[in-house]
Amino acid sequence: MRMEDLTWKEFGEVRKSISTVILPIGSVEAHGRHLPLGTDVFAPMEIAERVEAKLKERGVEILIAPPIWYGHSFVLNVFPGTINVKADTLRRYVRDVAGEFAEEGFGRIILLNGHGGNYHPLIEAAEEVAERYGVEVWLINWWVDFREDILSICSSQGHAGEDETSVILAIKPELVKMEKAAGERRTSKVRVIRKDIGFELFPDGVNDDPRGATGEKGEAILDVVSEKIARLILEAEGHERGNR
Ligand SMILES: [Zn+2]
Repeated sequence: MRMEDLTWKEFGEVRKSISTVILPIGSVEAHGRHLPLGTDVFAPMEIAERVEAKLKERGVEILIAPPIWYGHSFVLNVFPGTINVKADTLRRYVRDVAGEFAEEGFGRIILLNGHGGNYHPLIEAAEEVAERYGVEVWLINWWVDFREDILSICSSQGHAGEDETSVILAIKPELVKMEKAAGERRTSKVRVIRKDIGFELFPDGVNDDPRGATGEKGEAILDVVSEKIARLILEAEGHERGNR
């Protein structure tokens, strides 16, 4: 169920019977010459919808909240189209939004993150909300938490890389310019914070070789990730029912 489709009256009813809300969070950010700027929101939105559908089949309803589009993207901010908000701004914004869902009565708030730069601010936001409202907050970084599964499907993963490109090929193939897909994995021994480090670490906004990406791989990734998240939610909700 998408929150933005409901009236306030309907929402008032829904919140009495649903305990889990997924809040997708991403970034508006350069993803190579081949992927759209909205990549980091498209992926978690799609995963959220698949999780919802899988749970519905098993008799469990969850709510999908409208996504948070703008994220913290210091490194990729050297490319046009990256709209970076400061880490502290994102932390406070997500804390306030998630806090509102806690106030509305949701006991489990899942931050479904699509962007690496959001990681630290989201942990801090989650801790604040958990502390203040006594609710459970999950932080899911899909490409990290399910890395093993993803690497059984793709030969590598990375920003605008084989995994992410495959996922967007599965969701919005019309927006992917595979003929422009190129890149390589780059790392640095220590984290260097410099305004223009993005040009070195993410040439053209890429940090992986995306050329092996296919829609089939993307479909497989989306399926395994959403199935595993759905199972985790089922398990958690089952425990709650058992404890009542
Ligand atoms: Zn991305």
